[in-house]
Amino acid sequence: MSKSLRTLLNEIAACRHCVDNPDGTSLPHDPNPVLRADKSARIAICGQAPGTRVHSSGVPFTDPSGDRLRDWMGVSEEQFYDVQRIAIIPMGFCFPGLDEKGGDLPPRRECARLWHARLFPHLTRLDLILLVGNYAQKWHLGKERKSTLTETVRNWRQYLEMREGPGYMPLPHPSWRNNSWIKKNSWFEKDVLPRLKVEIKKRL
Ligand code: SF4
Repeated sequence: MSKSLRTLLNEIAACRHCVDNPDGTSLPHDPNPVLRADKSARIAICGQAPGTRVHSSGVPFTDPSGDRLRDWMGVSEEQFYDVQRIAIIPMGFCFPGLDEKGGDLPPRRECARLWHARLFPHLTRLDLILLVGNYAQKWHLGKERKSTLTETVRNWRQYLEMREGPGYMPLPHPSWRNNSWIKKNSWFEKDVLPRLKVEIKKRL
């Protein structure tokens, strides 16, 4: 790992922005940024933010969503957690807390604004970025995103073949909450996942 990337990751590990200088409501607990990055990685997973389990474990995707995502990608745990192959950079690095219904709050808006533009230029070998859920699709695709997640995922070929920079694979979040979406959109398992496995295998 380059010294400058290590310095940046140390800065992120010490970040207290959402407690000390938040946009609006303060983070309701001590920050615990959870991400993984190395300049060798060719694949990045950009999801939402840690949930309660990951907030405790400090390791991303140590939950049923992680099991499903690894299955989608066709990778073992060992491959998934090899930071020299796969970076994991969510839109918010800290667990954002729960809403009044017990669901996770959205990723902290401050996080991507503060860190992503500084972090991604260190990952010079990246050539495939998985955009897991709406927040990551909105940030990375900008105006290229379609009006719904379903349409964005359905147009995955367009993003995979983007001419400049790494290719993108937009995906729904692998949470059980999306079981009905997956069932309703059968093209996702039939067309997208086989190609996802091929693209991952090429880069491992
Ligand atoms: S969510 Fe991001 S910006 Fe907020 S405290 Fe955590 S690392 Fe810092």
